[in-house]
Amino acid sequence: MPSIFTRILRNELPASFVHRDEVVAAFLDIQPLTPGHTLVVPVREIASLSDLPPEILARVTALGQEIGLAIRAVDPSVTGINWLLCDGPDAGQEVPHIHLHVIPRRKGDGLRFGGKGSKTERADLDDWASRIETCLKDRMAK
Ligand code: AMP
Repeated sequence: MPSIFTRILRNELPASFVHRDEVVAAFLDIQPLTPGHTLVVPVREIASLSDLPPEILARVTALGQEIGLAIRAVDPSVTGINWLLCDGPDAGQEVPHIHLHVIPRRKGDGLRFGGKGSKTERADLDDWASRIETCLKDRMAK
């Protein structure tokens, strides 16, 4: 049974993409912990960090860095970024397809880890995705 992220990558489920290529992709979290919360995933469905080839991990983290920069550029209220990677159910991993959370932080946003994000309208996710995507394309073209 393919993971929910593989189904997204096969275009069987909707997502608000900010980037996709043959190795890595990134799209908005459907239940963002903060506005702009983005997930970076390897295209190959690999559940555990332990099994992720280092060259793919390098692509995931490089894209995560670029996305953090793009988020800061499109929203100046973002003054920090949390990266979160949950490896295994006991570490809170719910989707068995490894992914890096890129979570924008704003002064006084009150975010505490451990809770759930808020269900967000697709139009809001698409709006964030298109702003981040445009900035990301500009940055990656340089
Ligand atoms: P984790 O607990 O690290 O496995 O995180 C899984 C994340 O995937 C959660 O933040 C969910 O909100 C997110 N998620 C689940 N289904 C979807 C989906 N269809 N599109 C985007 N994000 C999703």
